[in-house]
Amino acid sequence: MPGLFIDVKVEASAAKDAELAKKLEEVCPVSIFEATDAGVVIVTENLDECTLCDLCLEAAPPGAVQVIKLYE
Ligand code: SF4
Repeated sequence: MPGLFIDVKVEASAAKDAELAKKLEEVCPVSIFEATDAGVVIVTENLDECTLCDLCLEAAPPGAVQVIKLYE
């Protein structure tokens, strides 16, 4: 996937949490999280817009969300 420098992962059990999904959808300024009936879905096409603001990390329980830089 050229041009993709960030990956965002939500831990499997946390991803099914509808409340957390809503929170993540709200906090992310670039809409990387989408809340669905089944929980949170990562909007892959928006990943490159990630500003590394860490709002998602602050909104989630420790370890539930990971923002991974794919570059040095
Ligand atoms: S770090 Fe900020 S921009 Fe990146 S996914 Fe989390 S909330 Fe969205």
